[in-house]
Amino acid sequence: MTSAPAVPVNPDPADSATDALNRIFGYPSFRGEQGDIVEHVIAGGDALVLMPTGGGKSLCYQIPALVRPGTGVVISPLIALMQDQVNALRTLGVRANFLNSSQDLDERRIVEAEFVAGELDLLYVAPEGLGTAGVQRLLDRGKISLFAIDEAHCVAQWGHDFRPDYLNLSMLHERWPDVPRIALTATATPATRDEIATRLRLTEARHFTASFDRPNIQYRIVPKNSPSKQLLDLLRTEHAGHSGIVYCLSRASVEKHAEFLSQNGIPALPYHAGLDSRTRFQNQARFLREDGLVMVATIAFGMGIDKPDVRFVAHLDLPKSVEGYYQETGRAGRDGLPSTAWLAYGLQDVVQQRKLIDGSDGDVAFRRNANRHLDAMLALCESVTCRRGQLLEYFGQTGNAEKCGNCDTCLTPPESWDGTVPAQKLLSTVFRLQKERGQKFGAGQSIDILLGKRTEKVSQFRHDELTVFGIGADLREAEWRGVVRQLLAGGFLAVEGEYGTLALTERSGEVLRGERKLMMRREVATRPSRSSSGSS
Ligand code: ADP
Ligand code: ZN
Repeated sequence: MTSAPAVPVNPDPADSATDALNRIFGYPSFRGEQGDIVEHVIAGGDALVLMPTGGGKSLCYQIPALVRPGTGVVISPLIALMQDQVNALRTLGVRANFLNSSQDLDERRIVEAEFVAGELDLLYVAPEGLGTAGVQRLLDRGKISLFAIDEAHCVAQWGHDFRPDYLNLSMLHERWPDVPRIALTATATPATRDEIATRLRLTEARHFTASFDRPNIQYRIVPKNSPSKQLLDLLRTEHAGHSGIVYCLSRASVEKHAEFLSQNGIPALPYHAGLDSRTRFQNQARFLREDGLVMVATIAFGMGIDKPDVRFVAHLDLPKSVEGYYQETGRAGRDGLPSTAWLAYGLQDVVQQRKLIDGSDGDVAFRRNANRHLDAMLALCESVTCRRGQLLEYFGQTGNAEKCGNCDTCLTPPESWDGTVPAQKLLSTVFRLQKERGQKFGAGQSIDILLGKRTEKVSQFRHDELTVFGIGADLREAEWRGVVRQLLAGGFLAVEGEYGTLALTERSGEVLRGERKLMMRREVATRPSRSSSGSS
């Protein structure tokens, strides 16, 4: 590789862009909308780019930064990855550097001097840095070719990755009105897109929306029975020797499962915010470098991780939102080869997530929003139609994927059954406990009552005297849990408080009065075979 300045010599911008793509990055052609985006930004236009993870967002600003005179300033929340990103660019001969809080004064001075002297093609800065007068004055002393705002959804206040520092970025336009701005994100509900445009004052920006479909990812959501065993089964039968990520909600669960997999002969490492930064860094580096390692992690792991051959992403706990689910599963299969997104989900997840929301410091609006996000995730889990179709619809992309052929519901269509009567029985139980006894219990007790089980707790509270006692003996316990989950997902039932007690909602009446027919998924824990998904 040469270390000559990367600025292409070709006078025609379009030729220069292709030239830079071929010569510097070594790619023969642009992918999807990259070419249009690059051309638009080179011409000085603002852009809002929505592209799924792995879609190739980086080139959308890197190439214009190389072609336009001056330095492209990239705002990125991923401080831990800046060094890596800069190193990768430098090995290609691109003059890149970064400014963030991890540097000492001397290091910063060097970078600042490079920028002012016009010796940088790209400068990465942290959003909190841009808010400081020092950095702003520095930027005034050099020539800026463009601003790239990476992970732009961090500006969305109700999103799952909100960073207050992003709110300040609206000043870019006021302070440097002539510098084109390109905002990029892989999270793109219509609401988030609008919020990004408003908050970043990108009202004139052209929107580029790539398809969010990731056809090579097989989406599967299974009922959670014995999660460790189910996970092991998945890895052994379908992903032996593969790299993958296992997401858990808690640090304790991360530790437990990393150890569990290791003990069972599957090389696994833990990653969560409670580990010291050295261990985290080492584990991340090993995951990126080595083959066949499984990273067991909380959601602290993954943003900005570019490992092409992640063959599976497994969730042992329910994600808080569809956005989070999509982003986390999106880390699988960046190389386009068949990959699995597998989620095990159970009633306890719903109870736990609601409890987290109830116990949070957020205000009423925050909780309502968090519950709404959770509801959408639950609806996806309980869906009897194509998961991919549901996902795309959520992102406002009603595509042609009515039946994708590569998700669990397409491969083994769930049997549905009329669960209206059982749902009424369950709601009646909750109603009687509350009205006749002034009591609230969790799902377990209500199910025991319906099944007619004479447990100690049933006797203690004389629940065998209730008229609903034993009226649900025709269903199995697992089926009852399914009924509860689906009522929760539909908002016909709620869980409350520290003990996850069940309570009726405004909508319970619709079911109790028979105004609503409830079709439910049959509880079968079968696994669609990979071979039936074809060779795509
Ligand atoms: P994103 O930021 O959208 O997740 P990246 O910019 O990291 O995606 O790109 C994902 C992968 O695709 C990278 O390995 C990148 O080098 C590759 N890539 C991007 N654009 C092209 C292209 N036009 N041709 C070939 N490979 C590309
Ligand atoms: Zn499908």
